[in-house]
Amino acid sequence: MNKLELLNHYFGHKKFRQGQEEAIDAIVSGRDVLGVMPTGAGKSVCYQISAMMLPGITIVISPLISLMKDQVESLHQIGIPSASINSGMTLEEFRNVMYYARCGAFKILYVAPERLMTESFLRFSNEVLISMITVDEAHCVSQWGQDFRQSYLDIVKFLNQLPERPVVSAFTATATLQVSNDICKLLNLQNPFLITTGFDRKNLYFEVQKPKSKYDSLISFLNQNREKSGIIYCISRKLVEEVCDKLCYDGFSATRYHAGLSSDERSINQEDFLYDRKSIMVATNAFGMGIDKSNVSFVVHYNMPKDLESYYQEAGRAGRDGEPAQCILFYSGRDVRTNTFLIENSHEAETINDLKLKQSLIEKSKERLKLMTFYSTSTDCLRSYILRYFGEKPPDRCGNCSNCISEYNIKDITLEAKKIISCVFRAEQIGLHLNRIFLAKTLMGSNDKIIIDMKLNKLSTYGILSEYNKEYILKFIDFMISQKLLELRNEGNFLNIYLTKESAYVIRDKKSVFIKEPKKEKIQNQVYNNKEFDIDEELFQRLKNLCIKISKKENVPSYIVFTNASMRDMCRKKPTTLFEFRKVSGVGIIKTQKYGKLFIKEISDYLSSN
Ligand code: ADP
Ligand code: MG
Repeated sequence: MNKLELLNHYFGHKKFRQGQEEAIDAIVSGRDVLGVMPTGAGKSVCYQISAMMLPGITIVISPLISLMKDQVESLHQIGIPSASINSGMTLEEFRNVMYYARCGAFKILYVAPERLMTESFLRFSNEVLISMITVDEAHCVSQWGQDFRQSYLDIVKFLNQLPERPVVSAFTATATLQVSNDICKLLNLQNPFLITTGFDRKNLYFEVQKPKSKYDSLISFLNQNREKSGIIYCISRKLVEEVCDKLCYDGFSATRYHAGLSSDERSINQEDFLYDRKSIMVATNAFGMGIDKSNVSFVVHYNMPKDLESYYQEAGRAGRDGEPAQCILFYSGRDVRTNTFLIENSHEAETINDLKLKQSLIEKSKERLKLMTFYSTSTDCLRSYILRYFGEKPPDRCGNCSNCISEYNIKDITLEAKKIISCVFRAEQIGLHLNRIFLAKTLMGSNDKIIIDMKLNKLSTYGILSEYNKEYILKFIDFMISQKLLELRNEGNFLNIYLTKESAYVIRDKKSVFIKEPKKEKIQNQVYNNKEFDIDEELFQRLKNLCIKISKKENVPSYIVFTNASMRDMCRKKPTTLFEFRKVSGVGIIKTQKYGKLFIKEISDYLSSN
């Protein structure tokens, strides 16, 4: 079979996605490949189909047992012979897998990097024909990446001792240019074919809320998203427990995960979530890599995370199956303070003795936090903000984020901006640099003791914005900082406000300042309005229940039986024969044989009762 036939026969996909075909062609022609493709782009297909086309076995190096298990289960479901070797196996299981692997029973073998340089594996690797080494989550090899794994450095040693060098392919979703270069160097890729398909995840909807009560907003969100599976990230273990308890009390099916729980509880809770026994996971950022659950429909950040790298990675766990999914961030000013505290007191910072280095790392973290805060307070397109942060040049509007779908009033705040700038200037004249709060309080004419003690009430600009409240003035100030009309500088424990070159333009009437304020109602979200997702919900629920029933019987997560994307396609195509069923996206030969009749019956029953 050629590559397209393989894609269709086994995976049931009708055409290749961006980057897949190029990757397979390069690999099969014997060229090393580095694929940097976003989460959910379909990196697995690139090496799995290549593996099927190459003569020998493919070794896939993967960092986590849960990832390997997930992949091997999926491959079994579609009839591709594969196995994994992991530390959770008994000696007998291990020997069995090795025996069958030697006999050529598998096309794909997943291993953890720690396994490579063990005696038995080295012996094995010299006895069989290894056609390809694939490094999944390849960013783990680089110290610049977030998940550096020492043992990934063994990969190249392993390669060097092989009798013949196989083709090497490496894949990751999170690689800045620096990390990509590192991967090529540290894995010793030979003239690699580079594939980058950009960071954008079109099916993700981004929203920022600034709720009065985060819990109330959460409940209102969850009520609108019943029956869906999602993750709620909280900033601390304590908050995880609090939110999870409340949700359970309020009748939601929630479980929890953080590093303070026993490893038993963690693995039980994680499985409950993966197998859809619980639909909501409340977790700290410890719940992370290895979560390949493809039917996560939302990720709510109960707190703003410390930087956009973390945010995009965590939020990106939604919608791996390509279905529309929501990424909601609850922002409050307190999150900024908590994160600042965490940055200054982080475990990593503690272990560094070199004071200068430590200080510079802390500064860099604070700079990233600042940009995260700007995201949370921005009135411009959220997606384009993220993509620009990762070095892309996206269009100004995406139509699928809370800012793009809100309507705004444009307000001229040049006069207010001038007053704020003068106040910074007057304070400077008496030798003071104020932080945001003091500046806002001075402008509103606050009677706080500290303001009086600092003699800020003697400034001519004291109280010149008394018609606004503090939150409103802070909003202006934050907006001006984001527009570089003011600047925050780190001084001791304070972030103080300074004037910039641009401030002078405003004072001299060379520049006007406009702020966008959301009107109350939002216009309809474009993606959700899209015809493609306008399907029969009742049928969808019935198919989903059937899928869950099957998955329980087979003891695999339901998305391994069928993804939501496949079931949505069933709702559109409403197949009533096996021939029609085979045309559904994600339905290959094996799944047609295994599940076709059951699903066709469900669909026929539904059609005749309606
Ligand atoms: P990644 O490793 O890049 O995050 P995966 O390989 O796990 O992504 O694939 C994500 C999802 O995309 C899976 O549900 C997979 O079935 C689906 N997929 C992959 N390739 C295609 C394709 N060509 N057409 C449709 N769906 C695809
Ligand atoms: Mg993957």
